[in-house]
Amino acid sequence: MAQFKRILLKLSGESLAGEQKQGIDVERLNQYAQQIKEIAQMGVEIGIVIGGGNIFRGLSGAGKGFDRVKGDQMGMCATVINSLALSSALDAVGQKNRVLTAIRMEPIGEFYSKWKAIDAMRQGEVVIMSGGTGCPYFTTDTGSSLRGIEIEADVMLKGTRVDGVYTADPEKDPTATKFEEITYDEVLRRGLKVMDVTATAMCQQNNLPIYVFNMDIVGNLKKVMQGEEIGTLVHP
Ligand code: UDP
Repeated sequence: MAQFKRILLKLSGESLAGEQKQGIDVERLNQYAQQIKEIAQMGVEIGIVIGGGNIFRGLSGAGKGFDRVKGDQMGMCATVINSLALSSALDAVGQKNRVLTAIRMEPIGEFYSKWKAIDAMRQGEVVIMSGGTGCPYFTTDTGSSLRGIEIEADVMLKGTRVDGVYTADPEKDPTATKFEEITYDEVLRRGLKVMDVTATAMCQQNNLPIYVFNMDIVGNLKKVMQGEEIGTLVHP
């Protein structure tokens, strides 16, 4: 039995790049699709938001002289590219799915609405909500908080390449220790980089718990759904 009925899964674009750091690693993509199919078969309703950092980030573009808004629009398009890649990989493993877009761009994807997403999830489709919030100056973390709240998800699962929330970045500080659970207040007070402040505050204000776990280890997504405590729970 799955511990959540409806989830919002946030995948980072960077993780999708695998070891190459840029672009799409097909092996990683297929592993994600397989893991997602596994939990769909448990009867979980699944909404997904993917980042675009493996292709383009508006803020780093602005640092190189791009107009910030155009850079962010490029970043949003990058999330659509990743969403289409995941959709295609889900098709290949026989998992029904659809891509919705925050900005109109039929026939690439249908224009997002909460009800369209919920209807599709109830029919057993995995719904990939692309294009972030559709607005510049936001991130896909905020996009996933927003969509998670809108679709009334029980939890936001933040699949990353680390196994939870640490006192400091474990990739940089070997003395960093992991939290089994932590409140939103403490995340904000300690300035921990679980998600950006806007996204964390949105989850806090709307009581959406976040579970941070390592999505790059095959089988972990199912473990989370089965209630194994392999990550960190961020809660009110
Ligand atoms: N972006 C945006 N508005 C949104 C979501 C994303 O402008 O609502 C842009 C922004 O430039 C961001 C890029 O899309 O840098 C890619 O998203 P993000 O950096 O969140 O991807 P991730 O780090 O998860 O791969």
